Amino acid sequence: MRDWTRRGFLSAISTVPLVGPALHAAPAGRGLRAGAAKANITLPLGANNGGIILRGGPAKQVHDELHARCLVLDDGATRLALVICDLRMISRELVDRAKALAAAALGWPADHMLVAATHTHAAPGLVNIQQAPIDRWYADFVVLRIADAIRRAAAQLAPAQIGWGSVPKPEHVFNRRWKVQPGAAPPDPFGETKDTVITNPTAAQKVLEPAGPVDPELSVLSVRHANGRPLAVLANYGLHYVGGYSAGSVSADYFAVFAERLQQLLGVEAGDPPFVAMMSNGASGDVNNVNRRQLVERNPPWEKMQTVADNLAQAAAQLCRQIPYRDALSLGVATKELELAVRRPDEARLRWARTVLQGIEHPNNLTRPQVYAEEAIALAAGPERVPLLLQAMRIGEIGIAAIPCEVFAETGLDIKQRSPMKPAFVIELANGYNGYLPTPRQQAWGGYETWPARSAYLEVEAASKIRDGVIDLLASVSQ
Ligand SMILES: [Zn+2]
Repeated sequence: MRDWTRRGFLSAISTVPLVGPALHAAPAGRGLRAGAAKANITLPLGANNGGIILRGGPAKQVHDELHARCLVLDDGATRLALVICDLRMISRELVDRAKALAAAALGWPADHMLVAATHTHAAPGLVNIQQAPIDRWYADFVVLRIADAIRRAAAQLAPAQIGWGSVPKPEHVFNRRWKVQPGAAPPDPFGETKDTVITNPTAAQKVLEPAGPVDPELSVLSVRHANGRPLAVLANYGLHYVGGYSAGSVSADYFAVFAERLQQLLGVEAGDPPFVAMMSNGASGDVNNVNRRQLVERNPPWEKMQTVADNLAQAAAQLCRQIPYRDALSLGVATKELELAVRRPDEARLRWARTVLQGIEHPNNLTRPQVYAEEAIALAAGPERVPLLLQAMRIGEIGIAAIPCEVFAETGLDIKQRSPMKPAFVIELANGYNGYLPTPRQQAWGGYETWPARSAYLEVEAASKIRDGVIDLLASVSQ
């Protein structure tokens, strides 16, 4: 049995924290309690492993299990639950149902709960916008398991210590959108040639420079039992996913490899209560793991995610050992419904869509223009405005902004910079799914993430409105 108390004490006094709580800052709560749990949400073989614009298909093999990982915190007055799910995305409807189940069982307010998807691309996107419909029974199963994860974590609530820190890890994140000379981009799916950005350009395409920044910050919130034994780690990093799957496989991508590796590095044996690590996705709507400035890498399946996860887990483990811990702090949460307009097709675009789709006989094998024509028809049939849930949490001096979109790095950096609480985490694909969130200037530059579809439909000013909305919420919970 390890001596966690001694080890934690020694590490706290013998190293200099990179970032961490000043011991005198922020009002102390009445003593922190925490609990964690993970529930298996693996997709059975044969079920739809899904895709949005890229077509997926049935699950043929499970490479590694999918989980809903939950951390709950209680300062004596306020309780928070954060759940990170190994899914491509998850709809507002399913999130709300899971929260309602947990809220009813626990008597906690549902709006004190955050449920986010990691964005692994080898798991279903539980939203009703795929060419193949989601398996309803699997969605129902995931709802129950998320609620279970929250209830099981709540049942583990026990006195705890908490600390946080962050470190730059720029080597795994690259902006995937590249500026090109006007006229150099290929026509968009609608046959227009206005784009001055190409997403994921090929090696042969001539590019100028990345169209936006990346956020290199790896942040961790580390929770320990009162005796120093690690209880949970919530990490945050802005990397879309890593990929490198074999076809038809189910996998939680680097997010889960990170969690497993961190447990090993912290030397936590499986036990009761379990240690639960989780990696939440930061603002990564335009960020991938491909360094275009180097020769194209060819990695065997599954290898790259191991490399990335191992390196990030090493950095996270070091932070967990270095940061100071405290056993009391105060928690806060605020939510806000925002209503935004949808970029629906005009008459000319609809006429184009109907022409493109005329006489289609094999809807499972559509060309790119045909896919976007179907998307235009779907957007025309959908609502003119949509509601979004924005949420902010305070954990001591940390601010967490939760946004139901694929947020671009520049928006995430803006939120972190303007947040009254520092460090700030931006968790994307949280509490629902409202597609890509390019900034107004990125909308003007065009490219994949801006082409209207059910995965990219919010009004041009959406990113500014959402950014301002979560900064207001962070300010309101910071007092
Ligand atoms: Zn995506």
